[in-house]
Amino acid sequence: MTATDTVGTEGGRDFIRDIVQADLDARKHKKIVTRFPPEPNGYLHIGHAKSICLNFGIAEEFGGQCNLRFDDTNPTKEEQEYIDAIEYDVRWLGFGWGTNLFYASDYFERLYEWAEHLIKNGKAYIDDQTQDEMRMARGTLKEPGRNSPFRDRGVEENLDLFRRMRSGEFPNGARVLRARIDMTSGNINLRDPVLYRILHASHPRTGTTWSIYPSYDFAHGQSDAIEGITHSICTLEFEDHRPLYEWFLDNLPVPSRPRQYEFARLNLTYTILSKRVLTGLVRDIHVKGWDDPRMPTLAGLRRRGVPAEAIRDFVKRIGVAKANSVVDAAVFDFSVREVLNKTALRRMAVLRPLKVTIENYPEGQSEDIEAVNHPDNPDAGSRKIKFGRTLYVEREDFMEVPAKKFYRLSPGAEVRLRYAYFITCKEAIKDASGEVVELRCTYDPASRGGNSPDGRKVKATLHWVSEADAVTAEIRIYNQLFTRPDPDAANFAADLNPQSLEVLSDAKLESALAKSNSSEPVQFERQGYFCTDPDSAPNRLVFNRTVGLRDTYAKIAASG
Ligand code: ATP
Ligand code: MG
Repeated sequence: MTATDTVGTEGGRDFIRDIVQADLDARKHKKIVTRFPPEPNGYLHIGHAKSICLNFGIAEEFGGQCNLRFDDTNPTKEEQEYIDAIEYDVRWLGFGWGTNLFYASDYFERLYEWAEHLIKNGKAYIDDQTQDEMRMARGTLKEPGRNSPFRDRGVEENLDLFRRMRSGEFPNGARVLRARIDMTSGNINLRDPVLYRILHASHPRTGTTWSIYPSYDFAHGQSDAIEGITHSICTLEFEDHRPLYEWFLDNLPVPSRPRQYEFARLNLTYTILSKRVLTGLVRDIHVKGWDDPRMPTLAGLRRRGVPAEAIRDFVKRIGVAKANSVVDAAVFDFSVREVLNKTALRRMAVLRPLKVTIENYPEGQSEDIEAVNHPDNPDAGSRKIKFGRTLYVEREDFMEVPAKKFYRLSPGAEVRLRYAYFITCKEAIKDASGEVVELRCTYDPASRGGNSPDGRKVKATLHWVSEADAVTAEIRIYNQLFTRPDPDAANFAADLNPQSLEVLSDAKLESALAKSNSSEPVQFERQGYFCTDPDSAPNRLVFNRTVGLRDTYAKIAASG
């Protein structure tokens, strides 16, 4: 993605909003009605957020209504847990549906009547072919399909068989109801699509009332028409289904005539946005659950500390287009940083501690140091942190033999400890294996507050935590779940990143963080944005890294 792509659409407008505006100007509709139609067979992911923001956003902006409709036509894969999670996630994103909560299963009786209507008009028939036979006869993009030997069954026979299908007389897969359209159509979706299949399965809402269930195509468009949807917005894969969507509207006594519009689905680098794959990740325990912070689910992002505002900001930033593309995951991180930078209070935390002893600081003594909570927001106030003889700094802030341009700690080097003092490294103490385990340093009492006493400069300012003030925490650092920017959805396990989760079990945090509330994001200075994980307990602090501070996207944007 280049810098210009990220500007998104001018002033929040896009081709769908333009269509909606034009339809309102032409008085085609009194009120705009959209819908978000998830199938409750998994948790929502960030791709769904794009669709949610579009559908609910349009309803808000144009004074219309957006329905939440569960597309619950496949009882073998759908569960109440998913329904509850989807409702929670949509609300969390900041949208509401008022009383407009619907289920495709609310319409099963009407859909059934409409199927009989098609049969009575010679526009649907019962096919006894096996699935394989139907697949073979469907043809290809280059070759037309062949008519089923059952295609010319009489209306009475079709009706009788369909009613017996409904009453549960036949086993799963014995026969189906198909629309009678055109087996030679260039559009395979019009080659006598299946409308109903036999499925002896209990449905979460209709129980065992039904032994037949409508197909997605038959249920979806007709649900739109029943609800008076004006703009049925879906992703590009359904473009080829639009002629079928319209065929139903032409051939059924529907109460309204919605129009379908297609937009490009969200694709993100290093991410797979497919419920089938996400279900597989959970089922095969590649992650700890739907809300694992490495998952692109809204539940996972929330647990990771991503604010809903950042997701809405991201969706606005990428815009709505008609051509598919892949968005750089760095663009998402950019939106997360933008929001967190404004709100997150600054704290100090040492993730990989190295002990420092200040030799000329009196033993048993400590002092309070004032530290600001937010550099751009004086109203956020300040807090007191303790300084003392024993401190921790970040392991990577010391190099025994400093590399070129490494201005942090090394023997003889002087640095500033943020808010506190200048310190000079005198000696590195090693253990038997040669690993540096402690730095012996001195401090300059005249540099209190981190100010230079005589104009001398130091090139590095380090974060630190004093032993007197420290609480120990577990920090979870999340990296990309997949190793490749374009992971293979068909064989996703092969592209999993074995280093997607890094656990640091001995981090030292300033004590204010022990009281952290999971709803409040914090910035660990020089490290990134963090939040407490629900695994935290009274004696166990666990933090998730939401996103690092390093802004790789700024570099991409600058060079793009
Ligand atoms: P998946 O492909 O992840 O299984 P789905 O399309 O089967 O998703 P649905 O529950 O049918 O999942 O999706 C509900 C709505 O969300 C649909 O209108 C669909 O077009 C939209 N949607 C799904 N994935 C994306 C995406 N990546 N970007 C934008 N919209 C999406
Ligand atoms: Mg779908």
